[in-house]
Amino acid sequence: MDFIRLAAVFTAIQFVRYILFAGFTYIVFWKLKNNFTEKNRIQKNNFAKKDLRREFLYSVSNCFIFGFILAISFYDRQIDIFNLKMTASYLESIGWIIFLILFHDTYFYWMHKTLHHPKMFNWTHKVHHLSKNPSPFAALSFHPLEGVLEVIWIIPISRIFPIEMGAWAIFGFIIIGINVLGHLGVEIYPGSWTKNKFLKYLNTSTNHNDHHNYYHGNYSLYFSAWDRWMGTFRK
Ligand SMILES: [Zn+2]
Ligand SMILES: [Zn+2]
Repeated sequence: MDFIRLAAVFTAIQFVRYILFAGFTYIVFWKLKNNFTEKNRIQKNNFAKKDLRREFLYSVSNCFIFGFILAISFYDRQIDIFNLKMTASYLESIGWIIFLILFHDTYFYWMHKTLHHPKMFNWTHKVHHLSKNPSPFAALSFHPLEGVLEVIWIIPISRIFPIEMGAWAIFGFIIIGINVLGHLGVEIYPGSWTKNKFLKYLNTSTNHNDHHNYYHGNYSLYFSAWDRWMGTFRK
């Protein structure tokens, strides 16, 4: 497969993954409104139509950027690109997925915090923060430059480490799930988890929603550990 075709295939996968997760959660939590949403919604006001449209259009444009970067990352491995069958043991595969999550969590925290620097914010991250009350469609709503920064780390990591496509694919679904969860607008975790010694480190939807609402603090993605260690955690 030539490079352009590979980029097109990755773009299509990104788009389907985004529509499935953002569309499904939007319909379940916000279209078929239910008591759970009403009881656990984070902000009182509803999503504005213009915000939904902007979030969708920026997210779709980022599917192209992600597709292009993924094609660069995996072009050399195209023989096995759609072979998701894992030859490594379960333990090794799970180990690689945990590695990807921890690496990405660290990368994301520092990249995100850097983009909040006044000299960076206006020409990169401002687009994502146009959503003060984000919907699930904001999951990939980034300025194109930020879109590149969101995934550029995959180029070196995919070349340095022998991670199988199956593990990358599972990671790809975890990350879109985490992104949509952060922008869900509804808190689905029980309140008691925030008091648990271990579970309190899971980033909640409220954590990221507060980040959109107040701009500062809660920069992390999967876990709140970096925020807690660096004193940027909003209580
Ligand atoms: Zn931010
Ligand atoms: Zn966000």
